[in-house]
Amino acid sequence: MPASGEDLSLLEFIVEKVNVGIFVIDSEFRVVVWNRFMESHSGCRTQNIVGQDLFAAFPELRESEKWLRRKIQNIFVLKNGSFTSWEQRPYLFRFRHNRPVTGGVDCMRQNCAFQPIKDKAGEVQYVCVTLFDVTDTSIYQNMLQKTMVSLADASNRDGLTGIYNRRFFEQSLAKEYSRAQRYGHTFSLVLLDLDHFKNVNDVHGHLAGDEVLRETVHRLGGCLRDADILARYGGEEFAAILPETAQNGAMIVAERLRAAVAATPIIFNNQPLAITTSLGITELRADIRRYEDLIKEADLALYASKDSGRNRVTCYTPTLGAEQA
Ligand code: GH3
Ligand code: MG
Ligand code: MG
Repeated sequence: MPASGEDLSLLEFIVEKVNVGIFVIDSEFRVVVWNRFMESHSGCRTQNIVGQDLFAAFPELRESEKWLRRKIQNIFVLKNGSFTSWEQRPYLFRFRHNRPVTGGVDCMRQNCAFQPIKDKAGEVQYVCVTLFDVTDTSIYQNMLQKTMVSLADASNRDGLTGIYNRRFFEQSLAKEYSRAQRYGHTFSLVLLDLDHFKNVNDVHGHLAGDEVLRETVHRLGGCLRDADILARYGGEEFAAILPETAQNGAMIVAERLRAAVAATPIIFNNQPLAITTSLGITELRADIRRYEDLIKEADLALYASKDSGRNRVTCYTPTLGAEQA
C-alpha cells in the first residue's frame, strides 16, 4: 500500500527518533538521507552532508573506503542486502561511546546492515545503511573472554602458592616429553620435598607451615628461568621441568634451589624457621618409554637424598632402581 503524506511524515519522525544510525547513499556515493543518530554521533549536520560525497565528507572512512565502495556497489549490482557484524569489522564510523573506559572498548562497536532501495522496475536506486550500536555486547564479550582466560589459568594453579598444580604439571611433562622425543632434545625433571615439614606444623602450627610453603615457592621461583615449569606436586612436594637442560645443568639448578631454601631461615611471627629440602633429578634418555618413568626416577633419587641425610641433591642412576627392586 503506497504511503500517504501523513504516513510519510510519521516514518520520517521514526527515522529521526530511532536510536539507530540510518543513512542512504546513491550510486555516486552521495548522501541522500542522514538521520539524527548519524548527525549527533558524527557531528556532521544533515543539511551539510546531504548531496555530498560520503568519502569526501568523511576522510576517516579512508581505511575502509575500498571495502565499503565494493560492498555498496555489489548491492547495486546483485540487488540483495548484506550484513557486517562488529566481530568482522569493529566499526564503520569512529564514533565515541558513553560507556566507562574500563570496558576496554575505545570507540562505538557497530553492526551494519546494507539494504537495497528499489524503484518500481526493481532496479536499485539507493542503498540504505543501518548502523546498530553494539558496544555493550562487545564489552560483555570482552569481559567473558577475560573471565574464561582467568578461569582456565586458575584451574591450572595451586590456591595456596599460586604456582602450577599437579594436573598442569603432568600435562606439561607429557607435552615436554613428546616434544623432546620428536626433536631429539633433552630436558630434566627435578622433584623437591621439604625436610621434616611435619615438625613445622606440629611445633608452629599450620599457618606457619603455609607461610613456609609460600616463601619456599618464592625462593624457588627466583632461581628458575621463564621457560621452566614449577609446580606444587603434593602437600610439601614440588616439581620443576627444565626444558633443554641435561643432567649436568639440572644439577647446578637443583643445587641453587637447595641453597636458596636453606640459605636463611624463613621468618614467621618474628620466629626464624630453618627449612631445608631434599631433591632428586633425572634426565630424559633414549631408553625412557613413558613420561611417568621420569617421575619414578626423580622420586627414587629424591628418596636417596632423604636416606643419605636430607638437604641434598641426588641424580638418578640405574643402581638406585636396582636397589629398590
Ligand atoms: P620428610 O623429611 O621425610 O619429608 O618429613 P616430612 O615431615 O616433611 O614428611 P611427611 O610427608 O611425613 O609430612 C608432610 C607434611 O606436610 C604433612 C602435612 O601435614 C604437611 N602438609 C601438606 N600440605 C600442607 C599444606 O598445604 N599446609 C600445611 N601447613 N601443611 C601441609
Ligand atoms: Mg612429602
Ligand atoms: Mg617432606
